[in-house]
Amino acid sequence: MIASAEFVKEAFVRFNAEIFSGQLPVPHIQLSRARSFLGKLKYKVTPGAFGRKTVCSDYTLIISTLYDLPQAELEDVVIHEMIHYLLMIRGIEDSSAHGPQFRSYMNAINERFGRNITVSHKGRAADTGRMHYVGICELNGVVKPVGASVDKVRKLQQEDMVGLIVCSKDMAPRLSAGVRKAFPVDKIDWYVTNHHYFSKFPHLRTVKMYLVPRTELPTLTGRNDLGGY
Ligand SMILES: [Zn+2]
Repeated sequence: MIASAEFVKEAFVRFNAEIFSGQLPVPHIQLSRARSFLGKLKYKVTPGAFGRKTVCSDYTLIISTLYDLPQAELEDVVIHEMIHYLLMIRGIEDSSAHGPQFRSYMNAINERFGRNITVSHKGRAADTGRMHYVGICELNGVVKPVGASVDKVRKLQQEDMVGLIVCSKDMAPRLSAGVRKAFPVDKIDWYVTNHHYFSKFPHLRTVKMYLVPRTELPTLTGRNDLGGY
């Protein structure tokens, strides 16, 4: 997904409560088309005159909209900036931008909240428009999702649903074979695409399908002949 102001605000408020005990005042939120960073904390520095302390104010959390990342990674970017923010407003000094203080908060949060915050987003540019292997499965009969209600199944019967496999290149052959065995599938058309529609689906690693209405699918071009799958 690509960050929106609503998403960033919502993530900030949620993680402020969950992780930072609500200690952080809500900053300005800004989106940018920056290529050089994913997230950044901007603030105004007023040097302390006559022996007074330097004051930082006007905090702005900036998130780049140039990167299409899984939601959890975007959340990690927001939390990363929130750690910088916490250190700033608490006046905790660190030896560098991501010094021992930063890392100790980061590691504690990763551990306690199951996050994957990092200190380096280098190489992330390669994730722009991450490639998905997408298998569109023509269903022969209705696939009942586990635990689906009668109403849900009826709705599925009315709508023209397709099964969707979204995965990495490595998993495609295995999932293709597995899905054919496990589900009533007539055929699977494979595409390699970086269309942002597919970013919301975590790459599958086990034999599963996402069920989506056919009308919701984007028009896919660049169909690859991945016949063997
Ligand atoms: Zn940082």
